[in-house]
Amino acid sequence: RAKADGRGNYCFFREEMAQTVEARRILELDLRKALANEEFELYYQPLVNLKSGKITTCEALLRWNHPVRGTVSPVDIIPVAEDMGLIVDLGRWILRKACMECMLWPEPVSVAINFSPQQFHQRDVLTEVRYALEVSGLPASRLEIEITESSLLRNTQWTHDALQQLHAEGVRISLDDFGTGYSSLSYLHSFPLQKVKIDRSFLEGIDSDRPLTLLRGVARLSSDLGMSVVVEGIETNEQLELISADGTVTEAQGYLFSRPVPAQRIRQLLNASQGVRQKDGKVLSLPT
Ligand code: C2E
Ligand code: MG
Ligand code: MG
Ligand code: MG
Repeated sequence: RAKADGRGNYCFFREEMAQTVEARRILELDLRKALANEEFELYYQPLVNLKSGKITTCEALLRWNHPVRGTVSPVDIIPVAEDMGLIVDLGRWILRKACMECMLWPEPVSVAINFSPQQFHQRDVLTEVRYALEVSGLPASRLEIEITESSLLRNTQWTHDALQQLHAEGVRISLDDFGTGYSSLSYLHSFPLQKVKIDRSFLEGIDSDRPLTLLRGVARLSSDLGMSVVVEGIETNEQLELISADGTVTEAQGYLFSRPVPAQRIRQLLNASQGVRQKDGKVLSLPT
């Protein structure tokens, strides 16, 4: 019912903006309380080795069980937590929690943890990681840290050294969402990275019209550069067959195998089946 004249629209606009600012303020207040109130939870999604069919790693994915809104996606949490400077505390909680939960899994299975740029670029990131390993008792070889291109493009000398030290510690570094940024793989390769996760967008239309050339090229180049290759977002058996064909892709992740599931469920799954992939692609064969 805003007036049609300029002034009415202006007022209407202001009101809407105020609502957004208010909503954001409430979200921030809620987020601050959430950590203390233990409203956060980690879900886990398996990465499956294509040769053995076994789960090698489970990626920790943040969920927020908001008392009123229900489950809130990390896409809505992480950027706000970054703006608020809360990401360091939240990231620390995620890191320690995920290391502790991985300790309950069968021996070789690793945990992959997403580090946002601000979390990665805190001065004592190495100390944080060492501490999490120490208090959990998790060997460094079972920890994988996922960073994105944007983390690499900032403060590059420091970044290079930090990655080198983490690698020396025995932790694996994985480049997440590759292909969504603008850097070439050969540039990114100047950093010590052990894994490349090819973004799900590379799969769009792959089983119908789009040629596989791009995905195969990126996979082959990564593999030739000595990195292992993961394709994320596998939803169909056709996609799985297509990416498996030439043997350059090491691991795959996606709804075909399993959606992200709560900690207790991933634990049951890993312990019961050793996480072996079934004929239909699924690794989750336990009753829901
Ligand atoms: P990501 O690290 O690339 O994680 C993969 C996202 O794709 C997850 O969404 C996952 O549920 C979804 N996914 C997996 N398989 C499929 C599939 O087959 N099809 C489709 N359509 N989607 C699939 P989620 O859990 O909503 O997380 C979104 C993003 O939020 C993550 O992308 C990551 O960037 C960020 N994130 C999640 N947890 C954390 C965290 O603990 N810390 C930080 N810093 N970021 C996180
Ligand atoms: Mg990730
Ligand atoms: Mg990803
Ligand atoms: Mg992604």
